[in-house]
Amino acid sequence: MNPALVSARARGLTPYTPGEQPQDKTYIKLNTNENPYPPAPAVQTQLRESIAEELRLYPDPNSTQLREALAGHYQLTPEEVFVGNGSDEVLSFAFYAFFDPHNGPVLFPAHTYSFYPVYCTYYGLEYRKIPMGEDFSVRLSGFSEQDTFSGVIFPNPNAPTGIAISREQIAAFLGSARSDRVYVIDEAYVDFGAESCSGLVREFPNLLVVHTFSKSRSLAGLRLGFALGNPELIATLFTVKDSFNSYPLNRLSQQLALRALENKSYYEKMQEKIIETRERTVDRLRTRGWNVLPSSANFIFASAPGIDGGTLYSDLKQRGILVRHFNHTGIKEFVRITIGTDEQMDRLLADLDALYSK
Ligand code: PMP
Repeated sequence: MNPALVSARARGLTPYTPGEQPQDKTYIKLNTNENPYPPAPAVQTQLRESIAEELRLYPDPNSTQLREALAGHYQLTPEEVFVGNGSDEVLSFAFYAFFDPHNGPVLFPAHTYSFYPVYCTYYGLEYRKIPMGEDFSVRLSGFSEQDTFSGVIFPNPNAPTGIAISREQIAAFLGSARSDRVYVIDEAYVDFGAESCSGLVREFPNLLVVHTFSKSRSLAGLRLGFALGNPELIATLFTVKDSFNSYPLNRLSQQLALRALENKSYYEKMQEKIIETRERTVDRLRTRGWNVLPSSANFIFASAPGIDGGTLYSDLKQRGILVRHFNHTGIKEFVRITIGTDEQMDRLLADLDALYSK
């Protein structure tokens, strides 16, 4: 193709590589942190009963009902809630809205969600990776040590480590941080045992908390994410969204998300089940001499004694189990394993024993 057909901007992009979704055979998928349990029964009923005829009409561009329901859930007002197509889209809007290239680099932890540098390239932002503790924890003091930066983002619990920071620590950090910068906390995995900072958004008008329906609400296929923050931050996100796509959330997604929110106790039960399975799996791996980082998420980050992470990944793939390996300096020996059902984790352990126990 004639290179002149492609903008210099597009030529400069390095896209995010999502976890593989192979179609060649059925795998036990422990590689993209999906929930192993189905959405609440009421979500499935709503899907069957949704009226196809209504799809000829545009959806509510402001997702008013859904934002009201989310506001009720988090004890906020709808003006403090923004929704988008997956938290990936919400994060992308946040990078555009709050991180100004003239103010310096965006700061995030050295090992974290690998989409952040991709957004930076997309929006012409520099970034700086802040070193982590030896135990792979996110060091908030590492952010405080920086004078020049356009904003800060980190997941809590962090990905791919699963390690969480307490709300108290985050509140103390925000209390002494620059008030003329926005701090984004990506809480994609918070419902699996970490403390949400949603209750801090009134105290800190420069805090944006981002969530997703993909993990704890079993709706990765629906693409639904949301942000909680000060009404002015939220209004800015709306301005960005309305400059890009005024109807991002389709009618079905809005209806199904409402049903999901009404079924809190179902989801709490599923979250507890996943936490129990996680703890069981961690114990069993540690008994076999594995190093498993302490996880508050629906995945674990673990390494086996004397076996490289890439080898683990490909040996398991051959046996029909997918896990995620990041070929990044400093974490090459690890694999990230999503917590599946008890049966799936039993299969994983049995295959590991078959592969490596002498
Ligand atoms: N943040 C983190 C830390 C993630 O791991 C993911 C999942 N890949 C996302 C955000 C995006 O999730 P989604 O777009 O499905 O809401």
